[in-house]
Amino acid sequence: MPQQKTYTIGGMDCANCAREVETGVSKLAGVRLARVDFATGKLVLDGDVPYETLKARVEALGKTIEDEPGQKAAPVVPNRTRGGVIGFWDYLWARDETRLALAGGGLILLTLVLSLLFALPEWLVSAAYTVAMALAVYPIARNGVNTLLINREFNINLLMTIAAVGAVLIGEHLEAATVIFLFAVGEALEGYTADRARDSLRQLVALVPATAIRVTHGVMEETVPVDELAVGDMILVKPGERVAMDGTVSAGESAVNQSPITGESMPVYKAVGDEVFAGTVNGDGTLHVTVTRLAADNTLSRIIQLVEEAQSVRAPSQRMVDRFAHYYTPAVVVIAVLVALVPPLLFGAPFYDTANAHGWFYRALALLVISCPCALVISTPVTIISAITAAARRGVLVKGGAHLESLGRVRAFAFDKTGTLTQGSPEVMMLRSVSCVTDHFTPNAPGSHEYVPTCEPCDDMLALAAAVESRSTHPLAQAILMAARERGLSERYAPAEGVQTIAGRGVQGQVDGKTVTVGSHTLFDLEHPHSAELCALIDAAEAQGQTAAMISDGDKVHGFLAIADKARDDSAAVIHKMQALGLHTVMLTGDNAAVAGVISAEVGVDDVRAGLLPAEKVDAVRGLLAQYGAVAMVGDGINDTPALAAATVGIAMGGAGSAQALETADIALMADDLAQLPYAVRLARFARSLIRQNITLSFGMKLGFMLLAIAGGASLWMAVFADVGMSLIVTLNGMRPLRMR
Ligand code: ADP
Ligand code: MG
Repeated sequence: MPQQKTYTIGGMDCANCAREVETGVSKLAGVRLARVDFATGKLVLDGDVPYETLKARVEALGKTIEDEPGQKAAPVVPNRTRGGVIGFWDYLWARDETRLALAGGGLILLTLVLSLLFALPEWLVSAAYTVAMALAVYPIARNGVNTLLINREFNINLLMTIAAVGAVLIGEHLEAATVIFLFAVGEALEGYTADRARDSLRQLVALVPATAIRVTHGVMEETVPVDELAVGDMILVKPGERVAMDGTVSAGESAVNQSPITGESMPVYKAVGDEVFAGTVNGDGTLHVTVTRLAADNTLSRIIQLVEEAQSVRAPSQRMVDRFAHYYTPAVVVIAVLVALVPPLLFGAPFYDTANAHGWFYRALALLVISCPCALVISTPVTIISAITAAARRGVLVKGGAHLESLGRVRAFAFDKTGTLTQGSPEVMMLRSVSCVTDHFTPNAPGSHEYVPTCEPCDDMLALAAAVESRSTHPLAQAILMAARERGLSERYAPAEGVQTIAGRGVQGQVDGKTVTVGSHTLFDLEHPHSAELCALIDAAEAQGQTAAMISDGDKVHGFLAIADKARDDSAAVIHKMQALGLHTVMLTGDNAAVAGVISAEVGVDDVRAGLLPAEKVDAVRGLLAQYGAVAMVGDGINDTPALAAATVGIAMGGAGSAQALETADIALMADDLAQLPYAVRLARFARSLIRQNITLSFGMKLGFMLLAIAGGASLWMAVFADVGMSLIVTLNGMRPLRMR
């Protein structure tokens, strides 16, 4: 039986370390599969290896390992609360490796000061620097040698060790010591910043309280750990407290701030029957909540899990950088060897330093130092991790770096109409049987929906429609059932038999031996002949943006219902912002052109395609792809799945309420609103430009230093300083999405 276990790896300072540990562990006997993510710092292992063996291997590579039994259940509390310089000091002090580097640094400083104050003998100063170097280099050398022995790979630690030993051999003791000290501190600094990026996600989990007040028999209250709660338990949520579990409200009402889940800080009113999520903040009311999910499965945990998975999927630009780094280091080493040997051997150039210039051996050592691809390798993942985390905090779940990069490239946005640009809670505004006995059939003002007084034929028609629609999940079906209930017709129909949907057109089923069809005007024009008078009435309703549902029992057309679905309040504003971002906006709908025209004019999209069958929506997306290169499709993720899949990025709404939307989309908006969309696009573009900046910066710096080193103008410590400095710059640059407004 395959057994997967997860461990936490500590001390992963460089993106390359993850791959090193992965290779090292993979070579252990009994390991079927090992995967290490730099983004999450986790090792996933499939195989039978004694823990001791595993631990020894990981430690040989200079990393730490922690077993994580049942890691899913307990909410993780961030362990590093202090930030800034103090936090970094703790980080340095926490590990033997970095403590040694600090000791080395202290010794360098002491020797430097003493040698300036007193005339110390030359040999003593050199010896002190060498000891300082040896202290700091020990863990680096150990990792370098072990990586060579275990993984059969040259890594930067080995090259740094060679450079330091080489520098000592040619008498550059101070330089050897500072180079290693700076390198060790720089690596730790990278690890520290990467850790902080990881932590910013973990802080989301910390939002969930560890305990809850359980109410038994309606009266007894006791505080219990959330792990002990079962589905069906009742918990009490006091005013101002965080909800501890996912559940439904069974008593009380309150406004709840759901921003941890949806990113929307406007409180949402909750009453009996409404869903609440763990981690959200209760307002002024007291709520009794019936638990619907175990602590480990609550929505916030699922979000964290999806985000962690997302972060570990490599983005295309990251794969490119990784591939490049794979060749870069060996290539620079070869150049270094050539630089050390060719000029002295072929052209009689000085091997050792002369009075006025660096020798070629020294230049080669400088090249070795420069061969570290760290800045390059770390630049992309840090940017992606922080962008994905920043998005998650705003209720935008990006399910992988690749999707983030795609969103940054997108030039056109396609929107589904129903439930995306509109509220998705349509209402029947008017109904009209062909044998209507009253004259009150003029469409009501939108929102008033007062139906005509009782009219038997109209009620019959509504009951017939409701019989079929009671087996449909379409938003229009909900509207029709609601109307039937409001008119007190619930007793007059039973659910139809053998109900089938006619995709994008309507629905059909058997009632009392007759085939009843409820569907669009288009469908009826094709298959169910009706009077020109009826057509004219329908056209009038459609001109107001109402969708007509016509009813036929197979023998005759009974009439129609006019159903309105209002545009969302913020649709127009969002579309406007998208256009300001230079995006082409298109509405795709299965509804007819008249209705589509009214809604699209209201929200202000650039283009509209109406009357589309589901397969035609896919074609429409493909057409946009051909025209714009990269296209995003926004839908509800339930009946739009094919179109979402056809687009470069599929974006689903309402992820918090619908597990399906959460699973099917590339990007899920946790709240059921579009408001975060312009932010998501700006964030993705920002991340893309940061990645490009970072790659250009670190690559340009390397190239410049390489030329400088060959020309003899770069010293070892300058090379390290530049590398560490650049790693830091790209890391800080990459963390900027976390602070984007
Ligand atoms: P949208 O693009 O708005 O999501 P759909 O593809 O779901 O539209 O449906 C397209 C059209 O088909 C609707 O506007 C409606 O006229 C008709 N239709 C689909 N399902 C039903 C139904 N259950 N009852 C009545 N009409 C329906
Ligand atoms: Mg739809």
